[in-house]
Amino acid sequence: MSEILAKAQCPYCGVGCGLEIFKDRKGRTKIRGDKKHPATSGDLCLKPVPYPKVMDIGRVPSPLYRENKKEQFREISWEEAFDIISEKLTHNKPDENYFYISGQLTTEDSYVINKFVKGFIRTNNIDANSRLCMASAVMGYKLSFGSDGVPGSYEDIDDSDAFVFAGSNAAWTHPVLFKRVLKRKKEYPETRIIVIDPVKTATADKADIWIDIKPGTDTVLFNSVLYLLNKKGWLDYGFIKEHTENFEDAIDEAERYPPDIAAQICGIKESHIYKLAEIYAFSKKLISFWTMGLNQSSNGTMKNISLINLHLATGRINEKGCPFSLTGQPNAMGGREVGYLVNGLPGYRDVRNKEDRDFMERFWKIHEGSIKEKPGVTAVEAVERMIDGDIKLFWIVCTNPAVTMPNLNKFWKALRNTFVIVQDAYLTDSVDYANLVLPATQWGEKEGVMTGSDRTITYNGIFRDPPPQCKHDWEIFCEVAKRLGWEEHFSYKSSKEIFDEYKKTTKGRLCDISDFSYEDLPKRWGERWLYRDKKFPTPSGKAKFNRAVFKEPEDRVKYPYSFILTTGRTKKQWHTMTRTGKSLELLRDEAEPYILINEKDAFELGIVDNDYINVRSKRGQIYIKTKVGSIRRGVLFAPFGYGKIYHFPTNILVSDAVDPISKEPELKFSSVYMKARKKR
Ligand code: SF4
Repeated sequence: MSEILAKAQCPYCGVGCGLEIFKDRKGRTKIRGDKKHPATSGDLCLKPVPYPKVMDIGRVPSPLYRENKKEQFREISWEEAFDIISEKLTHNKPDENYFYISGQLTTEDSYVINKFVKGFIRTNNIDANSRLCMASAVMGYKLSFGSDGVPGSYEDIDDSDAFVFAGSNAAWTHPVLFKRVLKRKKEYPETRIIVIDPVKTATADKADIWIDIKPGTDTVLFNSVLYLLNKKGWLDYGFIKEHTENFEDAIDEAERYPPDIAAQICGIKESHIYKLAEIYAFSKKLISFWTMGLNQSSNGTMKNISLINLHLATGRINEKGCPFSLTGQPNAMGGREVGYLVNGLPGYRDVRNKEDRDFMERFWKIHEGSIKEKPGVTAVEAVERMIDGDIKLFWIVCTNPAVTMPNLNKFWKALRNTFVIVQDAYLTDSVDYANLVLPATQWGEKEGVMTGSDRTITYNGIFRDPPPQCKHDWEIFCEVAKRLGWEEHFSYKSSKEIFDEYKKTTKGRLCDISDFSYEDLPKRWGERWLYRDKKFPTPSGKAKFNRAVFKEPEDRVKYPYSFILTTGRTKKQWHTMTRTGKSLELLRDEAEPYILINEKDAFELGIVDNDYINVRSKRGQIYIKTKVGSIRRGVLFAPFGYGKIYHFPTNILVSDAVDPISKEPELKFSSVYMKARKKR
């Protein structure tokens, strides 16, 4: 018999698989799926399996400090570290501080940090790496339904007969979810899978139709589908009349894109637009899944809205379908629930709303007016302010922006110009730019909850003692708060105390978990269908069509920058590889980054597999190994997660243009120039 040490949610992608951590007969710590988990029933993919073997590699050995970044770090005590931070925070004006946190933190961590920053430091300059990932989806949902949150659940997969994957390589990035889709197709062969992606991904390999769209043009495609649905009368008029508003506005914009024009802009077959319209019109039940291909764009919010418009036009909510945005991180949903972005407050509240501010000020027992009304500066916008010296302290928690931010040369310059704190379990690339490094505990060494993509909250148990030098993320902030005189507000003794405080803020809200306890998790908040009676949390109670306006990407494809670079993940690595990159099993075949080039493009340029080429954009250059394969002509793909030890991070090349509404950067469209490094 194996001894179960703990149950938890997987610390990687947002599918949120339930895991069991156990000791095998030889006393080794192992991981398997938790068959009793309501969302994933024991399924898991390769990524978390080697986790126990790599946990101790590359840990931060102690608090580390250097005043000058050209010097070596020296080990210091926690006391000294807290004194340094307290001195900086006391000296700086509130908005001169910036906090960049993560969808990998527990909900309790995010709640405490958000309370510390917005309620007590009195700045809204706190953003999370969800800004690079989910911000456009959040805006899409809010503008369409009045609230963030996926309207359906994983059970909806089991009776759907059509799946549209837009800008999502779920076969690699959300494998357990994709496996469930394939199971449905096997059981019900009439099921259709459509993949919209310029790369012939592993997901596209399984599709009935692969639409190899030109990057950046999805808004045009979805507008054109709406155009056809309207022209053919393939609409759910009852749903539109009863449950939506502003239909005419959306149609007015869609009218600009008849299929012949849209096919030209998107670089696809006109017949594919007709096919897509038929599938939205006539499937029994249809789910649209999407991730970064839509979100990471300077037109990202509009891409989200144009896709959701199709669901509203065909009544594809609840029993007939779901617009299902997939999250990239394990607790991006939980972070959004506690309001960890620049405008958020706990329980899906917003700093711009006076009632919400008043509630939180009373709840946190702070003076009226403590919480600022104006949202903070978003993460990509903060870079300029760091360069200008307006932001003087940049505190990174549990994420590695020195690899993931766009336009890295510029971001590295900003980091060099700022006092940087890195709070992490591992010595990441971001540590290279730090003045102060704080060793934190990680998954398996601390308790707390996380919310997966379908709103299921899972309790993460502890299965091993943390290294003695580490503190929990929430604990570090509580210690600093005490030194700043806020002890009575941050006197938590355990994660459970924080959870019990946070959950009270959700009472009566859409994400109400006020009657949840650690003991009854895992459990989903909200019903299986979030808007069960098709009543939406908007002023009118109706969902809203929005005008989805297409805008060309910021970078222009113009000689010499004649190729479009898009980025993403590999099959077995996760984010910046701080854990998966230390596993030999997971590194097999993925030990080095690569750039994927279309066969004909490669032939014309005299490039073959495993060449090393120089790729340049207006922002910098990298050298990278080539892979010749199936991708749209004129488009290149490279994974973003490989840091400096693997040569050059891809995001050196990448555009830092942002979506005007969500402020999410355009990580999926950068115009680049490439040439072979050596003549063969
Ligand atoms: Fe973890 Fe995602 Fe794999 Fe599930 S599918 S085991 S959540 S990485």
